This record gives sequence, structure tokens and C-alpha cells, in this order.
Amino acid sequence: MCVLQKLLVTIDGPAGAGKTTVSKRLSDRLGYRYIDTGALYRGIAYEAKRRGVRHDDGEALGALCKSMDLRFVRNENGTRLLSGQNDITDQIRTPEMSMLASAVSATAIVRHYLLDVQRAMGREKGAVFEGRDMGTVVFPDADIKFFLDASPQTRAFRRYKELEGKTAQTLEDIERDIRQRDENDSTRDLAPLKPAHDAIRLDSTDFSIDDVVDLMLDYITGVQL
Ligand code: C5P
Repeated sequence: MCVLQKLLVTIDGPAGAGKTTVSKRLSDRLGYRYIDTGALYRGIAYEAKRRGVRHDDGEALGALCKSMDLRFVRNENGTRLLSGQNDITDQIRTPEMSMLASAVSATAIVRHYLLDVQRAMGREKGAVFEGRDMGTVVFPDADIKFFLDASPQTRAFRRYKELEGKTAQTLEDIERDIRQRDENDSTRDLAPLKPAHDAIRLDSTDFSIDDVVDLMLDYITGVQL
């Protein structure tokens, strides 16, 4: 019997490109762990807000990072993010947390702290890591790297559908926030959002999630053979 080797797969790309849905389905199909690294940045943003730490106060952010205890757990409600004993999975999904996560993620202290956290999580292969700098900075030696993109309008519409009923934001508000976050994430000095030189670039604008997952599985099978 042929046992397929377990790989470390990275998926980077801008907000709303479909990374989360694709990564979840891909990890289910492969029987791999799924790690949403954006949730870690959101977790820090959430605790910064809760404890009154400003995103431009490096010293306070450093102290905050030292005291952080972020963990993913799987239970009957799926994968949940815990900060200490608190389940903060739902609280980190607001438009305010999106923008604050983008702000704290531009600081060296937070990136440095999460670099170690993410690499520790990736010590064991058989995982799909989703984020902005997975293939470029965190796992430059990943077995296979994808960069998933889509047009800004498509990304805004998907996010609008996801948030429908949970926010007062209009489609225009969401598109403006997404463009702002793209700008912040891709122009920052540290680990800016960009495809790794050896990433497979996919555009999901005109494809269904299932088509993208099937395409990725074809590439992964090619690497495993
Ligand atoms: O992926 P998500 O939209 O949840 O990420 C929230 C924010 O966290 C992003 O806009 C980005 O600024 C930051 N982030 C990052 N590096 C990652 C993952 C997320 O800078 N690997």
C-alpha cells in the first residue's frame, strides 16, 4: 500500500479571496489540520482593545504579547480560538477587529511574537496554513504554496454575503475597508502581502470554491507522487 507523505501547504492572498473556505475544505479532503493565522492577529487585536492597549504603543503591545495565550481547539462547534479560557472565535469577526488586526499586524513586536507561535504549530506536517506571509516569511520551505486572489468587487461581495445580518455595513463600506486593508497589508515594511516567488497563483473570480479546491488537490497530488 502506498502511504502518501504529509505536506505543509500554505495559502496566502488578500481579504475575501476565498482563502478560508478553500483552506477548510482542502484540509478536510486531505485529513490535515487547518490553521487560520489571521485569527491569531485578530486575537491580539481583540485583547489589545479589551485591555486598552493602543496599536501604536510598541512597549504595551510587547507586554500584551508576553501575556497572550492563544490556542485553537476543535469541539462540536468546529475549530474555536481560545484566549486563555475565553472562546473569542465570534468576537474577532467584526469589521472593527478586521481593521485593528491589520493595524497591529504591521508592528514588529506582534509579527515577531506570532512568527514563533506559527512555526511551533507547523512543526508537525499535514497542515494547511492560511494567511498573508505564510509562503514568503513563516514557511519559506513549505512543500506547496498557493496565492489565491480575486477581483476587489468579487471579494467585497463575498464578504458582504458572509456578514449579511451581522453588520450595518453596506457593500460600498465593505469594499472601501477591503481596499484599505489591501493597501495596509501590501505596503507595510514587514512581511507585506505578496506572492512567494515559487507560489502557484490562482484567481478565484470566475471559479467556484469546489473548482479551486479540485485544482489545488491536483497540484498537491503532483507533489506527493
Ligand atoms: O485573514 P484575516 O482577514 O482574518 O486577517 C486579518 C488581518 O491580519 C489581515 O488584514 C492582515 O493585516 C493580518 N494578517 C497578517 N498576516 C497573516 C494573517 C493575517 O498580517 N499571516
